[in-house]
This record gives sequence, C-alpha cells and structure tokens, in this order.
Amino acid sequence: MSETRMRIAVVGGGPGGLFLATLLRRADPGFAVTVFERNRADDTFGFGVVFSDRTLAGIHAADPVVREALARHGRHWDDIEVRLKGERIRCGGNGMAAIARRTLLALLQDRAHEAGAELRFEHEVELDDLDGYDLVVAADGTGSRIRERLAERLRPSVHTAAAKFIWFGTDYMFDGLTFVHERSPHGVFAVHGYPISADVSTFIVETDEASWRAAGLDGFDDDAPPGRSDLVSKAYLEELFAGQIDGRRLLVNNSRWGNFRTRRTERWWTREPRPVALLGDAAHTAHFSVGSGTKMAMEDAVALSSALCAHPGDLGEALAAYQDAAQPSVDAIQDSARPSLSWWEHFGRYHDAFEPWQFAFHFLSRSITDARLARRAPGFVRATHAAWRARHGAEPLDSPLRVNGHELPGRLVNGEPPGTIRLRAPSDEAGLPAARELLASAVAAGAGLVAVHGGTSLNRMLLTEEARLVYGVPSLLVDHELDTDRAVTAVLSGRADLVAR
Ligand SMILES: Cc1cc2nc3c(=O)[nH]c(=O)nc-3n(C[C@H](O)[C@H](O)[C@H](O)COP(=O)(O)OP(=O)(O)OC[C@H]3O[C@@H](n4cnc5c(N)ncnc54)[C@H](O)[C@@H]3O)c2cc1C
Repeated sequence: MSETRMRIAVVGGGPGGLFLATLLRRADPGFAVTVFERNRADDTFGFGVVFSDRTLAGIHAADPVVREALARHGRHWDDIEVRLKGERIRCGGNGMAAIARRTLLALLQDRAHEAGAELRFEHEVELDDLDGYDLVVAADGTGSRIRERLAERLRPSVHTAAAKFIWFGTDYMFDGLTFVHERSPHGVFAVHGYPISADVSTFIVETDEASWRAAGLDGFDDDAPPGRSDLVSKAYLEELFAGQIDGRRLLVNNSRWGNFRTRRTERWWTREPRPVALLGDAAHTAHFSVGSGTKMAMEDAVALSSALCAHPGDLGEALAAYQDAAQPSVDAIQDSARPSLSWWEHFGRYHDAFEPWQFAFHFLSRSITDARLARRAPGFVRATHAAWRARHGAEPLDSPLRVNGHELPGRLVNGEPPGTIRLRAPSDEAGLPAARELLASAVAAGAGLVAVHGGTSLNRMLLTEEARLVYGVPSLLVDHELDTDRAVTAVLSGRADLVAR
C-alpha cells in the first residue's frame, strides 16, 4: 500500500471528473480519489458526443481511452451535409467521430475504478459534506452549485443565448454530421443530427423564441421532475421533419427546451475557505455547435492532474499552473464558438435570404476563411465559387455592383460612394441593440449604402448582414486589417456586398 499524500474529492462523475480520477490514480497512487455522482451509474441524460479528429492529441497522449472507445464503438465521418429547400450539399475535410455518451461514461467509469478511484453513485454532495479532503474538484457540470457558492471569489459570468434548443435521439441513421433546416407555418427550425451508434443518431433542434411560441411549444412545465420529456414538442418535430428522417421516430431522454448558457469563470480555483478547483462545464462552456464541451472537460483533467504532479507540496502553485495551462485553449474555443452561436441565433434570416449553395458556405465559414476551407474541402469551395460566377459573371471581388445609380467595377472599394451612411459597430455585444436602431434610422433616412466600421469583427458583420438581408440596402464592410482572403469570404458568404480596407 502506498502512503496517501493527498485526499481528493471529485464532485461529479461526468467525463471530466472520471478522467481526472483515472489520471491522478495512474500518476501517483498516493492520491486517494473519491468521485461523488448524484445519479446512478447508468443514468445518462442526452444522447451522443461528437469529437473533432484533429483536436484529440492531448487527450490520447494522456490515455487512449477515447481513441479506443471511438474505434470500437464510435461512428466516424469526414463530410458535413447541409440540407435546405430540397437540396443536400456536402462539404468534406471535417474528420469527426461520435459515440453514445452512455458508452463513453461506462468506459470512463471502468477506467477510474480499475485505477483505484472510489466511485460513489447516488451521492449528491455539498461543499460542507466534504470536510477532511485536501482538495475538492468541482466537476459538477454547467449548473455547478459549488461554483455558485464560491461566486464571490471565482467571479463566474454567464451569457444566455436567445435561441431555444432541445435534445432528442432518432432511429434514423444520419450519414455524418447533418444540418437540416425546415420552415413550418410558425417559423424556422434547424436540426444538428449525427450517428452515435449502429442504430441511433443524435437529433438536436434549435429555433428562435418567436417560432417556438408561435408553434405552441412553450407549454411544458419546467418544474417537472428530471427524466420527464416534452412530448408535445416531440410530436410537432416528428411531423415537421418526417420527410427528412423517412418518417422514423424521435427518441426522448429528459428532452425539454432550454437556452444555451455560455459560462466563463475568472478564477478556476481558490484556497479559501478551502482548496477547490473547478473543472469542465463547471468552469466554462462553449455552444454545442462547436462540439468541444467534453474535450475541454477532459483536457482540464489532463492539465489538473499534470499540475498536481508537477508541484507536490504546493497546492497554490499547482492550481495556478492548472489554470495557466488549460485556459488558453478554452478561451480560443469560446472565441470561435461565439460566431457559431450567433449564426444559430440568426439562421431564420439566412434560411429565407440565401440560396442553398450560399447558405451552406455562409454556415461553414462561421469561423474559417475561404482559403482555409478550400484546403480542407476543395470540391465544396470550387462548387461555391462556380455558383457565384454563374450568378455574377466573375469571381467575388471582381463582380460589378450598381449602388445608388453608380456602377462599381468590383467589390473592393477605395473610399465611399455618394449616398453612403457610416455606422460604427459597437465593441461589445451590449452595444448591438443601439447600433441596430441607428441602422434602422439610416435606412429610414434613405441610405443608399451603409458602411460599417470599428467595433469587433462579429459585430461589424452582423450589421452589414442586417443592412442587406433585412433592409435590402447594400452594405460595405470597412476593416483596415482585411486581407484578400477575408474580403473574398465576406462577399462570397453574403455577409457584405462591398469591402474596404
Ligand atoms: C445539447 C448539447 C449537446 C452537446 N453536444 C456535445 C458534443 O457533441 N460534443 C461535446 O464534446 N460536448 C457536447 N456537449 C457538452 C458536454 O455535454 C459537456 O461539455 C460535458 O459533458 C462536460 O463534462 P463535465 O464532466 O464537465 O460535466 P457533466 O458531463 O455535466 O457532468 C457533471 C456531473 O456532475 C453530477 N453532479 C452535479 N452536481 C452534483 C452534486 N452536487 N453531487 C454529485 N454529483 C453532481 C451530474 O449528475 C453530472 O453527472 C453538449 C451539451 C449540450 C447541452
């Protein structure tokens, strides 16, 4: 028996908590690790987890459990398919894999158990129940009560998305990650579907609040006990998407509508009133359209276990090293998730405005440029440029445009044509409603072209898009740092009509 050097309580037996328990025990049997999980071992809410192939190196290096699980039980694919208005457009170069969450958790539980961690299921615990442990790891998910209890020290913040989402499974088999968009008499609904096993696919539906209410899907009692599903919404969506899933069933598992919450926490750890570290969703979340929540939780586990091993005897140093190591990649994922989340907040607008080829390019260029996308998926990008040329007679930046009675020879302009009204984009999201009002006033004042400058890149694009897609007024994106690749992406995707550096 090795001597116990540290007693660690992990609250939450999700992927983050279980992986941490395994890694700690493997690294040093002197870590006595107990995982407390309020659910039973085989209770699992939700259906599947997607991983992007190119992002898993760090997790595989720590323990090949995910690689083995995906190889043995997962589904792999390379293409993303976008379905809109009867067309199906495919884009390659997106190596991904998915697995049922239940399967992944069972394997992680076995691993943690074999490594010598103690797993206590059906144990819901509070911080005060855990006296006697040297460190409490709060891996208790997005609703973390430990984080809220220590909010003054950890300074969490939350952004609640406007869009509504609900999570189902289906016995229809999607062929890789598939985005399906349908307009009902009440509004636009979109599905993220992907296979997670030989006979089940995940089926996540998003819509905007107005469509959700108009469709009468707001009647479910939010106080219903966990486990109960919204069967009215199931029936509505089964009918709406029947043609897309060959009349197959939707499967429920605690399926109810929610609004995605993006969480950030300034400090992931504290020593007072006692040592606590946050891990995974308890510390940070990123919209599920970037498929990274499980990966981030498991990468946190790698960083925390390495930091505790690298700084024996100095818990403060170890916890600071943990956050320093794990936070940069979380920040990068959260930054790339923001434009993606914004896309989902506005997709009804894109659905109505764009032809399928441009809709698909707009979607797939949320956080990647034309040239980078072309390296991944040359066929898809070639087809998009060909569709543009078929409509405009030239490549995007060489396509003429008539604005206010003036014929512009191309889309990259110097200066602003007569009749332009300039609008400054806000530098944070809180400024968007006011900027939108200014845009509406500019349109009402007869602007022939709206030029948007300043602020953040996302806010500029949201305003140039709104001018052209909502008001039908051409828009000019002014960005001094715009290189040719970004300029092409903005015009080809329909985010702006013109660009200026
Ligand atoms: C709709 C949707 C789709 C998603 N799709 C993906 C995807 O495709 N790919 C991906 O990587 N991620 C996805 N995610 C995110 C992913 O589910 C989470 O990021 C991931 O599960 C986080 O792991 P975790 O270990 O931090 O927390 P969780 O998996 O949430 O685990 C926390 C655990 O703590 C337990 N717990 C909570 N409080 C207590 C307590 N007081 N005492 C004891 N136990 C407690 C809970 O029961 C739970 O088991 C998705 C999320 C959503 C909402």
